[in-house]
Amino acid sequence: MNIFYYDIAVGLPIRQCFTYKSPVNIKKGKRVVVPFGKKTLVGVVVRKISQPNSFGKSGAIKEIISTDEEFVCFDKSIFNTILWASDYYHHPIGEVFFSFMPTILRKQSNKTITSLNEISDYEVNESNKSFKLTKEQELSLIKLKKIKKFKPSLIYGVTGSGKTEIYLQLAEKALKENKSILVLVPEINLTPQLVTRFKDRFKGDIGVYHSRLTPNQRFKVWLRSKFGEIKIVIGTRSSVLMPFENLGLIIVDEEHDQSYKQSEGFRFSGRDLAIKRAQLEDIPIFLGSATPSLQTLKLVQEKKYKKFDLLRRIDGKKPPKLIPLDITDSPLIGGMALQTMSIIGETIKKGEQVLIFINRRGFAPLYECDNCGWVASCNSCESNLVFHKSKNRLICHKCESVYRINKACPDCLSEELNVHGSGTERVEDILSTAYPKVPIIRVDYDSTRRKGSIEAIYEKVHNSEEAILVGTQMLSKGHDFPKVTLCIILNADGGLISPEINALEKISQQLIQVSGRAGRNNNLAKVIIQTRYPNDLNLKQIKTGDYQLVANQCLNLNKSLSLPPYSSICILRTTSSNPKSSLDFLNRASLTLDNRNGISLIGPLPSIPLKIKGNIRNHLVIKSPTKTYLNRVLKFLIKEFEIWPESKKVKWSFDIDPYDMS
Ligand code: ADP
Ligand code: ZN
Ligand code: ZN
Repeated sequence: MNIFYYDIAVGLPIRQCFTYKSPVNIKKGKRVVVPFGKKTLVGVVVRKISQPNSFGKSGAIKEIISTDEEFVCFDKSIFNTILWASDYYHHPIGEVFFSFMPTILRKQSNKTITSLNEISDYEVNESNKSFKLTKEQELSLIKLKKIKKFKPSLIYGVTGSGKTEIYLQLAEKALKENKSILVLVPEINLTPQLVTRFKDRFKGDIGVYHSRLTPNQRFKVWLRSKFGEIKIVIGTRSSVLMPFENLGLIIVDEEHDQSYKQSEGFRFSGRDLAIKRAQLEDIPIFLGSATPSLQTLKLVQEKKYKKFDLLRRIDGKKPPKLIPLDITDSPLIGGMALQTMSIIGETIKKGEQVLIFINRRGFAPLYECDNCGWVASCNSCESNLVFHKSKNRLICHKCESVYRINKACPDCLSEELNVHGSGTERVEDILSTAYPKVPIIRVDYDSTRRKGSIEAIYEKVHNSEEAILVGTQMLSKGHDFPKVTLCIILNADGGLISPEINALEKISQQLIQVSGRAGRNNNLAKVIIQTRYPNDLNLKQIKTGDYQLVANQCLNLNKSLSLPPYSSICILRTTSSNPKSSLDFLNRASLTLDNRNGISLIGPLPSIPLKIKGNIRNHLVIKSPTKTYLNRVLKFLIKEFEIWPESKKVKWSFDIDPYDMS
């Protein structure tokens, strides 16, 4: 009897595969069940090996229990993208496989899994295409449609310039060639709008895939897509490796968006994985944005990507400029200056809508004793509690712990407790008192958590005449609000003067994205930014609304300072219950890398906040001239960690191409 040996990855945080044997010839990428200690686990076949070497004698090697399905779970290009990702992000391979496996497949089951036989046909709804393309759309589409192989394209289009129309026409072409389409969006809340646009254009099923669906719903989409029963899937970063029968193109909408980067666990970038996948499948990929990332713009400069400009809105107008409103000497009511209040009043009187952007949820960020200065803070995080009026509770935004409101100060027993500062709830509160008849619509994490809530909110906005929308960054992204003619930006100063190395890129994207929400089809739209730094040099550039100008400046600066995208960064992060262990580990890492050619280090530093859920957090920034060199250095470092006593006392992780630098 023939015996075959296989390296199997299991879904555990272990940086290695395990060798098993089987009399059956199994393809790589297949799901198997294997004995593991006293348990049995689901694993994935990574490779067939000729001679087992990991455990010496072949007798000690255990046998694979089952290889249930007929189908290969991870086809070649997806499989190879996963191997690449595990290597690039230095993340345990089994966990990477499991990240892209529907939850139902991560467990053992007795059911036979096959295709569902619910095949969808597609047809173009021609009546949905009644308008003539703009010159810019037409010129771009002619060229974009000619791209047949892997050559990433940036569709640089100001908000409202008709990017989505371009996606629809590219999708139409792919469908006609019997190919499938993957569309990625950065956030769940952006899916309904795009799904509606696709449904209006194409008769046929559109698969939707994100974390707010049940495991069964997601599994169904996964199966139908894998077996070619549906040809269009729209989803968040978790759908980047969705299997398709004949994938023809990938669209990454709002490619610059921070939400493509997973912020914990396996910290991958959905956009970058999409690009890798497109490269391995040799298919076109289209990155769309009004404020592209510096990384993408650099690759355009180097002619590795092609750029297509849509610089005018559909109505031919340029997007509105930003008007700074100096609030240095103004008293603020709930964060708003009197002048701001009066212009809001004028706008709604005209039956128009106002959008207020404030990057803070809850009612007020501080709950304080006016007598002694005590501030309510979380017991397990180094973080002040935020007052939520709707719940009448104090909430920690780092760990979501909920606290009752103190009647008296725990330090001095005074009852002079007060809230300070403002968030979305407070702005909503003040405006609903000032304008009791006007719908005030709050859009933040708290108001959109429930399934279907974002759809209800958008419907209310679209059905109202005058209305005021108050929201966090959620409001600044991708959504169309045709009746909004005034945007107000509160509280952006923190971003303008932040010392973070990617601060200017972040704040300019955010401000230009918010401005983009105002006055589509409206000449008179205004965007006002309240600030104490009206003469700030960066603000002067951002306010022109010309993102390319700001981005070029960022690129030049980062080039001269050898910052990303002209170098590569990894943040080595630690958490530990013991502050000394955390620093000992990072200090040793820092000493080890100190003399390495080309590597520069910042830290060890305390992370912000220093403590979350009782754990102390620190980090070391590691900068390398290239990605390849960084990868080599990190591999060396992992080998070192394996033998250090210091690494046993901390939980460490790498954050490659970090978005959050603190
Ligand atoms: P973007 O994705 O760049 O924000 P959209 O594609 O959503 O822009 O276009 C904005 C609006 O203009 C949509 O309602 C869309 O249907 C409409 N639109 C797109 N292209 C045209 C066109 N050529 N003529 C008229 N309306 C258009
Ligand atoms: Zn007190
Ligand atoms: Zn907390």
